[in-house]
Amino acid sequence: MKDGDWDVQTQLLADGPSGRTGPELRPVAGPVYETASFELPGLAEAGALYGDDSLGEAFTYSRYANPTCAELERRVSTLEQGVGAVATGSGMAAIALSVLNLCQAGDSLVCSSDVYGSTHTLFAHTLRRWGIETRFVDGCDPQAFARAADHTTRALYGETMPNPSLRTFPIRQVADVADRLGVPLIVDNTCAPVLCRPGQHGAAVVVHSATKYIGGHGTALGGVIVDTGRFAWGAAGARLPLLTEPDPAYRGQVWTALAGVRNSSAYLVRLRRTLMRDLGPCLAASAASRLVQGIQTLPLRMARHCDTAAVIAAHLHGHPALHRVNHPSLHSGDDAQRARRYLGARGGLIGLEFAGGHAAATDFVSRLRMVRHVVNLGDVRTLVTHPASTTHSQLGAEELASLGISPGYVRLSVGLEDAADLINDLTQAINSTTLPEQS
Ligand code: PLP
Repeated sequence: MKDGDWDVQTQLLADGPSGRTGPELRPVAGPVYETASFELPGLAEAGALYGDDSLGEAFTYSRYANPTCAELERRVSTLEQGVGAVATGSGMAAIALSVLNLCQAGDSLVCSSDVYGSTHTLFAHTLRRWGIETRFVDGCDPQAFARAADHTTRALYGETMPNPSLRTFPIRQVADVADRLGVPLIVDNTCAPVLCRPGQHGAAVVVHSATKYIGGHGTALGGVIVDTGRFAWGAAGARLPLLTEPDPAYRGQVWTALAGVRNSSAYLVRLRRTLMRDLGPCLAASAASRLVQGIQTLPLRMARHCDTAAVIAAHLHGHPALHRVNHPSLHSGDDAQRARRYLGARGGLIGLEFAGGHAAATDFVSRLRMVRHVVNLGDVRTLVTHPASTTHSQLGAEELASLGISPGYVRLSVGLEDAADLINDLTQAINSTTLPEQS
């Protein structure tokens, strides 16, 4: 039967030559594979795509893998010098999966207390309801991780530059504790891509909210989980039973024994084959293509974000309306040492602690002309966030205080605008805030 004999409906569904990207077409920007599924070859070959050798990366159905998402995975893995990556629909999905791939009911996690608000809530409440306990410790005290861990502990967790406290996480020392325990260290590197490669300091898994600096333009949500190749999953034994014992969810598969896994990651193969399949938090191809476009300019943007942030922080430091200007370049003591070691004392985020408390912070945000009030970071535009009333508002007063989030604290995510323009806008808004009464 010729194509012309097909029903109109059938013809409308068929690709013409321009719908395909053959070898003769070499688009500069990669194609966006907006498709839920991929046509399978014969039964025998289709079986192979689902078999052990494909490691779950074959393109059969976009909940498991999609070529546009694979392009983002490849680039973020390159950024972190990892052995592979899995993309997810948001940063929170990446964080949840990174832990659920190691922990089940009865297990525990030891986590720095100053992690991002939703991560804190996920670990403290949602995972607890599912029987996974998180023990929060002072992230700057590596021995606190050792003290809090026991035989139920499956991973340690922290953020390179915790949002919004901006204290640098002692990755190497906590990774050493993790090594002694025989468990992986997971690091959220959302706020410090390019500046820091947590894998080089011993982190086993790096997670990103690609929504932030990686995308950079605030147009798409996404997340990525990278295996840095630093952890010997096969040697974990009884410490990580989800990877080393037969998995009834996949006909008794022992993920670390999978032959094809030699050059890949048992951790990522299990994550893709079980959690992505069962929970379905996959990234859309359209979002992946925007994030791929973003990551192409990430190093250039980070350099500019950091240069401008350092100039602004130095300019505002000592302003009478501010108790504190929080930026890696202004830290002192151990904080400064860690900021130099892991971040080169650089960063695109700044914290401002208003002496006039909540009233002054409110005033400041309302008087900004160019800087926008948005709960996001890593954008090309400069953004201001008041964590206590927005991103961290689900936390109680005690928890907020323990994270260093006071009612007068605002966080700036410095964009790509001209530094002098930003300083003008910020200082006019700060100067018109109410100063506290002098006693
Ligand atoms: N990790 C950090 C450090 C964040 O700041 C955020 C969001 O602000 C997330 C993870 C969550 O990312 P997403 O909003 O993409 O789920």
